[in-house]
Amino acid sequence: MSERVKFFPGREIRSRSIDEVLASEYAADLKYSWASGAAMSRFLIELKNGRIIARKCNKCKRILLPPRIFCEDCFRETDGWFYVKDTGTVNTYSISYVAADASRLKEPLFVAVINIEGATEGMGFLHLLGEVSEKELKVGMRVGAVWKPEAERIGSILDIRYFKPI
Ligand SMILES: [Zn+2]
Repeated sequence: MSERVKFFPGREIRSRSIDEVLASEYAADLKYSWASGAAMSRFLIELKNGRIIARKCNKCKRILLPPRIFCEDCFRETDGWFYVKDTGTVNTYSISYVAADASRLKEPLFVAVINIEGATEGMGFLHLLGEVSEKELKVGMRVGAVWKPEAERIGSILDIRYFKPI
């Protein structure tokens, strides 16, 4: 013979309080680090020294930038380090009126993929263009890195402030 439960301990959840149960605000104080890996770590250290370094693959003869320890075309380890120049050409660009925090900008940012001189054609990275007007922007234009002063460099792609026409 079963006995019917007439009393449930706890507090009844009403639809209004569901949000209170399922969501809570919490300010996490997390401390973590991220390992860049062998190739990217060396790349960042070299940026701090004002140089751009790539990896070369002796099989396909490509100079890989950003540097990679493994050649994705040859399925093998790359063979060595290779300094490239801090000049290049604009592969493509975009004019952005939206900042990284999604706020609107009065003056646009010019964001470009830059083929770095010394690396294989099409190898390079995304960066800002500066000291240039919207009218002057062109695919194929030659640009050079404008570095931060050595004391301000931290081993970041932003150790290069931007690239400017040369
Ligand atoms: Zn290769």
